[in-house]
Amino acid sequence: MADIRDLQTGKRCIISHDFSPFTAALDFSRRINMLYASTGLESNQEPLFRRIKGTPMDLKFSAEHTAFQSEVRTFIEGNLPLDIQEKGRRGLKIEKEDVRRWHEILFEKGWAASNWPKEHGGCEWDTVRRYIFGEKLARYHAPALSPFGLTMVGPVIYTFGTDAQRKRYLPKILSGEEFWCQGYSEPGAGSDLASLQTRAVTDGDHYIVNGQKTWTTYAQWADQIFCLVRTSSEGKRQEGISFLLIDMNTPGIEVQPIITIDGGREINSTFLSDVRVPLENRIGEENKGWTYAKFLLGNERSSIARVGYSKARLRRLKQIASEEQSGGRPMIEDTGFRRSIADVEIKLKTLEFTELRYLMSETQGDGPGAEVSLLKIRGTEIQQDLTELSMQVMGMYAHPYVPESMEYGWNEDPIGPEIAPSLSPSYFNVRKTSIYGGTNEIQKNIMAKMVLGL
Ligand SMILES: Cc1cc2nc3c(=O)[nH]c(=O)nc-3n(C[C@H](O)[C@H](O)[C@H](O)COP(=O)(O)OP(=O)(O)OC[C@H]3O[C@@H](n4cnc5c(N)ncnc54)[C@H](O)[C@@H]3O)c2cc1C
Repeated sequence: MADIRDLQTGKRCIISHDFSPFTAALDFSRRINMLYASTGLESNQEPLFRRIKGTPMDLKFSAEHTAFQSEVRTFIEGNLPLDIQEKGRRGLKIEKEDVRRWHEILFEKGWAASNWPKEHGGCEWDTVRRYIFGEKLARYHAPALSPFGLTMVGPVIYTFGTDAQRKRYLPKILSGEEFWCQGYSEPGAGSDLASLQTRAVTDGDHYIVNGQKTWTTYAQWADQIFCLVRTSSEGKRQEGISFLLIDMNTPGIEVQPIITIDGGREINSTFLSDVRVPLENRIGEENKGWTYAKFLLGNERSSIARVGYSKARLRRLKQIASEEQSGGRPMIEDTGFRRSIADVEIKLKTLEFTELRYLMSETQGDGPGAEVSLLKIRGTEIQQDLTELSMQVMGMYAHPYVPESMEYGWNEDPIGPEIAPSLSPSYFNVRKTSIYGGTNEIQKNIMAKMVLGL
């Protein structure tokens, strides 16, 4: 039995698990929606927030947060370029220039870094504001800003970097002037990252770096790369690693594309041959890079859940399912299909609450813990489930592969509904999510050890 208290009447809503999972699922979904409806929020998809120990969760936004919600909505409606929005809505290819343009618009408004402290130019928003902002961006199909600077290396630099490093790098991450990429993985070092072999040897006031990084996402767009390199082979493997910031224009760096199964150009092999990197580009102490690397991974995993984007995909899925026919009636009326949708919607709703609980604890000063592994696993499973269901609902129209139809401005009629051409590339592309950022099997190992104490 689960126990939720209706906030307006104070009465308990008891959710029984005594009946079939399907009935329970629908009942849970219905009761959650009733609960939302009773809060007067603008849509039954908008949840929650204030949770005071020992009291029921208050699902209402405060007046301040409701005003913020309108401000964000008005801003996005007035400023997100229509061509970029159209690309997002139809699942078309997003170019670097699109991301940069949208980044600059957010930067001008002062909204580029919702997670950064004010002293470094961030918004320092509370959990609710960050939630509202992410939710609205996804709702309007805004492109995600590149996470490598804003979410990953930026917090490492302001937390562990020198003043000179903060001054040199943070403003350009914030403004979107410099793009970053991540140089962790190597051909022989993925899950077992500590076995990395890229070596940095001191030569006067420089390191000379040699090695190969792989799967480097958007290295072809990047101005800078943050790299884990081996600076010692003594003792434990983790204790011989350093964290370097490297300019991608340094002689000796070569980027070669790896084409993904959907035909996309997003990942690369990055070769480093006698690359000279100033010692002052090292974060923190030599051989202590593992500490900074783990801090960064915690932030990376917590942002991979992408709840807002999955909610947008779910809305789209329901819309397609109400338009596409099966056996003479809309797919959405098919009991089996409704059950699949209800199943994924419940998982998404619970993930959303879990993410909010996590964000809440982070706001209260707890750093990213091993629990973020849960967000990563569930978030990526849901993303994959949703693309799978979209393929099912579109049936044969999802099968033709016409790469040109993914380009904005391609003016031939698509085969089938407008959204159809993007579905199978998206289905194949999203298989990556359970691999990158640390595979889901590795996340389960982390939880077993750190959370369950096994
Ligand atoms: C699309 C994409 C983008 C990426 N972008 C970047 C990037 O920008 N920068 C970067 O540095 N890296 C990036 N990566 C690399 C990513 O982090 C690694 O692929 C990932 O950590 C897995 O490493 P691996 O590929 O070497 O697989 P392996 O470590 O060889 O794993 C192979 C299989 O064995 C399983 N396995 C391995 N060890 C264990 C274990 N102890 N217990 C249980 N199962 C295990 C894994 O789960 C996996 O299924 C990207 C990967 C992808 C797919």
